[in-house]
Formats: sequence, C-alpha cells, structure tokens
Amino acid sequence: MKQNNLWKETSEEKATFASLKGSIDSDITIVGGGYTGCSAALTAAENGLSVTLIDQQIGYGGSGRNVGLVNAGLWLPPKKVEVILGKNEGIKLNQALASAPDLVFSLINKNNIICNANRTGTLHCAHSQKGLNDIQNRHRQLSERGAKLKLLDNSETELATGSSSFHGSLLNENAGTINPLSYCIGLARVAKSKGAHIFESSLATKIEFQNDCWITHTEKGSIKSKKLLIATNAYLNGISGIPSPKYTPVYYFQAATRPLSKEIIKSILPKSHGCWDTATVMSSFRIDNHNRFIIGGIGNLGQNISKIHSTWARRKACSLYPSLKKIPFDYFWGGEISMTDDHIPKIYRFGKNAYSVFGYSGRGIGPGTYFGKSIAEAFANENEDSLPLKPTSNNNQKFGKIKGSFIELGAKIKHLV
Ligand SMILES: Cc1cc2nc3c(=O)[nH]c(=O)nc-3n(C[C@H](O)[C@H](O)[C@H](O)COP(=O)(O)OP(=O)(O)OC[C@H]3O[C@@H](n4cnc5c(N)ncnc54)[C@H](O)[C@@H]3O)c2cc1C
Repeated sequence: MKQNNLWKETSEEKATFASLKGSIDSDITIVGGGYTGCSAALTAAENGLSVTLIDQQIGYGGSGRNVGLVNAGLWLPPKKVEVILGKNEGIKLNQALASAPDLVFSLINKNNIICNANRTGTLHCAHSQKGLNDIQNRHRQLSERGAKLKLLDNSETELATGSSSFHGSLLNENAGTINPLSYCIGLARVAKSKGAHIFESSLATKIEFQNDCWITHTEKGSIKSKKLLIATNAYLNGISGIPSPKYTPVYYFQAATRPLSKEIIKSILPKSHGCWDTATVMSSFRIDNHNRFIIGGIGNLGQNISKIHSTWARRKACSLYPSLKKIPFDYFWGGEISMTDDHIPKIYRFGKNAYSVFGYSGRGIGPGTYFGKSIAEAFANENEDSLPLKPTSNNNQKFGKIKGSFIELGAKIKHLV
C-alpha cells in the first residue's frame, strides 16, 4: 500500500498555475507556496506590491498534509514563551498568535475559501493525570492572558468526544478545523486574483545577490527582486546560494477511515471538535465533512506505509472508539514538521531584505498565515514593526537529523506496545 493523502482527493478548491518561463522583475520573490508564502503573496498584492511566488505545487509541503487544527498560540504554554523570549517579546508573540484563528477564519469567510471550515472548537485532551495537570496549568496561564477557554472534566470530555479515554480536556471555542490543502489553494487563488504572480512546476534552483537585487533561478526562468522570502519550512528542495534553515525534522502521519455510517458517527465527536492529546508521543483525531474518522500520530510512514505505525493507528482508533473495530482505513499519509530546539519559529534574516521563515514546530496554520502576512507588511512598510518576532541572524541549531532519528525511534517503540 502506498501513501494516499485524503486532502488531495477532497480539496474543493482547485487551481492550477503556469510554470515560470523567461525572466521577470518583481518587488518581492517568494519561494514556497504553503500558508507562509501564500499569505505573504496575498498581503503583498493587497498592498500594491508586485509579488512572484514559485513552488512545484501549491500546498505540496506541510500545508497540504496536516491535521487541519486551526489553533491559537504555539505548542508551548504562553509563560514558557515569555521565559524564552523575555517578557515583552514573549507577550508580543503570544498576543499575535492568540489572534491567529481570527485571521485564518476571517480570510476564509471574506474570500469565500471553500475548505470545510468548522469553528466549533478544538479539544486538548488529557491522556493521564499528568496530562490533566498540564492542561489545568495551560488553562490558568491562558485565562490570565485573556483567553476564554473551558476546562472540561472527564465526564464533560466524554460527552464532547464520545470517548471515555480522557481525564479532562481544554476546549477552545475560538479554534476549529479546516481541510488544510483546500485552505492553502484558496489562499493562492485569492492572492492571484489580487495580482500576485503564482507559478507551479517551478522550483528555485539557485539564488544570487547581484547589484542590490536577488536573482532567483528556476529551470526555465528567473525572477529579479529587491526583496526575498524563503517560505519552505521543512520542505526545502535544494537551492544553492543561500543557507538552509536548521531544524529537527519530525514526521507525523494520519490515517482516515471510509465515511462512517450515521449509526456509528453519532457517538463520535458530536460537535466535530478537532482533538489532540497531552502525551509526549502525541496523537490527534478529528472527523472530516464526509464523516471519515482521522487519527494521527508521530512517526515516519515511509513510502510503503510502516506496519508499526499503521497497526498502531488502527489499535488507537479502536481504543478511543470501539465501534471503529471493523472499519477499514482508506487513506494513510504523512508529512514533515520543522521543530526548533526551543519550539519557537524563526524569522532568519540572511541578507539584505531577505528572510527565511521556518520552525513552526507543528503549529503552522495560524502562525504561518500570520507570519506570512507580517513579513509582507514589513516589506511594504520597509520596517520590521509588524513582525511578531525579532528576526535573528543565528541559524545554528545542531544535530537536527540525529535528534529527529531519536524522536522517530521513540515513536516506533511507543507505537509497538
Ligand atoms: C502531518 C502534519 C500535521 C500537522 N498538523 C498541524 C495542525 O493540525 N495544525 C497546525 O497549525 N499545524 C500543523 N502542522 C504544521 C503546519 O502544517 C506547517 O507548520 C505549515 O504547513 C508550514 O507552512 P509553510 O508555508 O511555512 O511551509 P509548507 O507548507 O511546508 O510549504 C513549503 C513549500 O516550499 C516549497 N519548496 C521547497 N523547496 C522549494 C524550491 N526550491 N522552490 C520552490 N518551492 C520550494 C515546497 O514544495 C512547499 O510547498 C502539521 C504539519 C504536518 C507535517
């Protein structure tokens, strides 16, 4: 069995873009058509800048493969962000990303992006007593900072999820779920309609800085611009001439059942909440708009679907919902997450008017949309005030591949038992 991405088959937004041929001039070049790149292209076009975005395929990376949980903030609790970045910087980033679901859902509504947006909320589910302490702590910290979250006890969580597996959960009704690929293609479609030049089948192969301009080469063309955004996150496909972002690659995969019968679905996630748990080797679960159950976990499926991870997915789904016991899984697919050591994204400034944005550490729908928009505003205003985070010139995270291998080994061991 080969990988088969559910979102590719169910994305209702469909748009194709020509490939780049010949040389063009632009105010901004964007390499990478995920949320970061497409959101930046849209904002730049709205600000009257000429902008050119290239990719092999819009949504080819994490943006077309993820769980679709549109959450506020980062994985880290807000206090930790303030400790790592310092109080003022931490507060600025926390406030920016607390508003990220509003940004995502307002873009969807304003531009009629068809991506099965469902804003009934997300549940962070406590898998153990320790997990319950964790969400209680998060609830306290987030409430102190103005977020309106609900802490559900175990019976309320059972009502909300239909599963008796959890000690409690944290409900954020401001968050929700989407078809992630459809959202990304929708952003690109809207950016194009506002004047952004978007090309597919066009990978950047080499980038040079000449006479105060960035020249981005593709197989059949080139773009000359003063400003450059590298928005390739965990999917950088060999570009010579610029530094590669340093992070730890972490794999995450998902499995989706065929559409469930009315009888079975009525006891599973009655409000269609998107869920993930507090385990270190975490899992996620949700349903899509065709009533498929989708379970996710850390691990590299490989091209031919790892038995360890796929067997775990079936076992885990049945342990949450015994009614899924005989239901076949029709889809298995995975993707790569770029994890930074401190789990905080980076805006890496590597040259004049040139940024690489990466390291969303598994929380990129809201943050990617927000960071992309902010970078475009920084380009438009020619200052960095709009950025949620100070750019850094450090790109020195070490031993990413080795750390990633340890995480994979840990996930395999966990999924075996
Ligand atoms: C399996 C999985 C589950 C996740 N679940 C969630 C979730 O539920 N909620 C959430 O908020 N986040 C989630 N994330 C994280 C989120 O998907 C990412 O952080 C986000 O998609 C990053 O967006 P991006 O635009 O920065 O990068 P990407 O979407 O990865 O896009 C990078 C793009 O760069 C392109 N590219 C690379 N090299 C070149 C080149 N040389 N020339 C041109 N283009 C190039 C790639 O083709 C790719 O399309 C998940 C990630 C994964 C992998």
